[in-house]
Amino acid sequence: MIIFGLEGTAWNLSAALVDKSGVIYEKSATYVPAKGGIHPREASQHHAEHMAKVVGDVLGKAREQDLKMDGIAFSQGPGLGPCLRTVATAARVLSLRYKIPLIGVNHCVAHIEVGKWQSGARDPAVIYVSGANSQVLALRKGHYRIFGETLDISVGNAIDKFARNIGLPHPGGPKVEELARQAKNYIPLPYTVKGMDLSFSGLSTAATEAAKKHDLADVCYSLQETAFAMLVEVTERAMAHAEKKEAMLVGGVGANKRLGEMLNTMCEERGAKFFLPPRKFMGDNGSMIAYTGLVMLRSGTSTPLAESKVRPGYRTDDVAVTWA
Ligand code: AMP
Ligand code: MG
Repeated sequence: MIIFGLEGTAWNLSAALVDKSGVIYEKSATYVPAKGGIHPREASQHHAEHMAKVVGDVLGKAREQDLKMDGIAFSQGPGLGPCLRTVATAARVLSLRYKIPLIGVNHCVAHIEVGKWQSGARDPAVIYVSGANSQVLALRKGHYRIFGETLDISVGNAIDKFARNIGLPHPGGPKVEELARQAKNYIPLPYTVKGMDLSFSGLSTAATEAAKKHDLADVCYSLQETAFAMLVEVTERAMAHAEKKEAMLVGGVGANKRLGEMLNTMCEERGAKFFLPPRKFMGDNGSMIAYTGLVMLRSGTSTPLAESKVRPGYRTDDVAVTWA
């Protein structure tokens, strides 16, 4: 079975062809805001402009290798409304053109599924941290249950906001990680875990304030240590509660080495195993949508045209995991 997948919930327009043994081909076009953060309409215009090239390239590959596609998977949500509509429109056209099923994929579930596929984790507690989401989840009775999540902004957004405030270009995550390596001191910053939920907004603001008085590397380091310790605490409690012996890190912020290191230490201390998918599957990518479309279609799940409306607020725990 070969599935064409299309991702474009936010900054990355990405199309891919996948079968069960791996990624056949992937092509992406990245939106980089001229200044500030992601602007939904500008991002969707970017996707519309690059759609023909990105999709055409991948279809060209399929033709070249004489591959027969079995389905068109697309990120149905959550994400930015205008971006989602651009992607869904293209996906509908392809499904009609090739007369193959449409598969509406939940973007968060796709991060989890591609992570399991690529890291070999079987039944992990999942730490999903990206530009838009921060959730700790685990599969229970056919759904990815959310054990803890952010009450305000995601950890990625908190770091990016801080970075913008101190004059670094978007996305600031990688640059903050680099600066943090030169730190010498830890500066106390607000640590906010409420029950199993997290809050990063105050932390981002406090770090911005601290940067006016302290060494920048020290602030970057302290921001990371504080935010990541919060995530590790919630993950450890979720693992204990759901009796999971594995943990897996996914989403763009998962590229951060320090976060992986801290989660790995926690897992070692409780005799659990930590899984980290390869870097290129961490941020948003077309392959994750194609692969999730594949497992969905194989289990008999597809999306009739009439139900292909975009879902900007699509919740991870709304998805019936029919393929588990
Ligand atoms: P996603 O939404 O999953 O594509 O992830 C994008 C987010 O990942 C942005 O907030 C980036 O700043 C963040 N990110 C990427 N690389 C790193 C890194 N090395 N450390 C921290 N955050 C990162
Ligand atoms: Mg994402």
